[in-house]
Amino acid sequence: MKYVYWTVVCTTPGCSTRHFAKFIGEDTGTAYKLQGNLPEVFYHQCQKCGKVHTYAPADLVPYSVYLSPRTGFQEWW
Ligand SMILES: [Zn+2]
Repeated sequence: MKYVYWTVVCTTPGCSTRHFAKFIGEDTGTAYKLQGNLPEVFYHQCQKCGKVHTYAPADLVPYSVYLSPRTGFQEWW
């Protein structure tokens, strides 16, 4: 079973760590639309490079993995 998340990729050159912003659900292979009360901008500190970057909703991309959300997963909105 694959699960889909909204993700962003760290914009620090050479880092490219993927951050998981929100759980969408089981991967149904369909197109995903952003839902809910999104802020205009997200601030997120990268655990790998330590830098804080800002991301807009347009930066969010669906990403599918074989991992269900871990306990305590903090969603961005
Ligand atoms: Zn980074």
